[in-house]
Amino acid sequence: KDLKQHFALKKEKLFGEKQVVKAVDGVSFDIMPGETLSIVGESGCGKSTTGRSILRLDEPTAGEVLLFGKNLVEMTKKELRLARKDIQIIFQDPYASLNPRRTIRQMLTEAMSIQKVVPPAQQEARMLELMSFVGLRPEYLERYPHEFSGGQRQRIGIARALAVNPKLIICDESVSALDVSIQAQILNLLKKLQRELDLTFLFISHDLSVVRHISDRVMVMYLGKVVEIADKHSLFSQPHHPYTKALFSSIPIIDKEHRKERILLKGDIPSPLNPPSGCSFHTRCPFATDKCKAEIPNLRDITPTHKVACHFAENLV
Ligand code: SF4
Ligand code: MG
Repeated sequence: KDLKQHFALKKEKLFGEKQVVKAVDGVSFDIMPGETLSIVGESGCGKSTTGRSILRLDEPTAGEVLLFGKNLVEMTKKELRLARKDIQIIFQDPYASLNPRRTIRQMLTEAMSIQKVVPPAQQEARMLELMSFVGLRPEYLERYPHEFSGGQRQRIGIARALAVNPKLIICDESVSALDVSIQAQILNLLKKLQRELDLTFLFISHDLSVVRHISDRVMVMYLGKVVEIADKHSLFSQPHHPYTKALFSSIPIIDKEHRKERILLKGDIPSPLNPPSGCSFHTRCPFATDKCKAEIPNLRDITPTHKVACHFAENLV
């Protein structure tokens, strides 16, 4: 709820005025149990920071993160540690987050022990179960991360996340580093695990084909703000925000369906240090008017399952 991640730049003191980077600027959304909500947008739009803020890996500067009615942002370090058994995160490069000197057995044992979710007597059985969940042979438990391929390492990352029996898993570009065929295997594995284990996913990705495959709902971010959020079907068949349309125009397969309203983005994403006034997309939007430069558009309902932050959303469809 109204999540913010603002930070002041120290060296800007030189210029008198304190300058603030608004990496995440008032982001609100819900995730329902069992669904996959994706966050898309260009790099630097705040999607990873949103994911990290939820877990307080980056401490949010304002807002609430409510998990089963409890606000994670207000928790003590100890309470947060306990709450983290319900939320796990899987990164783009599992290799970077797997300790090279620990075998898979040691890693999984450690994960289960920290959270005390599995009593020691049941850990062996649980480990074998986790390996079978992610499609790895039990004898791999004795191996080290460097002995695996990228896809296998991501399976290990998933097994480690599952070890504590989480409800929500945040996947931050979790398949982006993999070959397309391996990507498909991991996405199908995630979907299978979601069905079998009642998992909820917050899926962060810049890859629209991947997002289209895995999501129930999709949220589009631009310069730290949500510009559009909808169920997958309406977002892909009837994108309203010019930025969403521009993103789709850059993907050949999706673009075929939107050929007549192709929008090409002008220029680069502006710096979050001095974001444009009004609608922060106005510097790149072909439809911008004076109103856009002056007034920040609210995120508002277009249909009960589709919200857009654009003054002219209805006129532009
Ligand atoms: Fe473009 Fe204006 Fe809509 Fe922003 S509010 S997306 S600038 S038309
Ligand atoms: Mg990122």
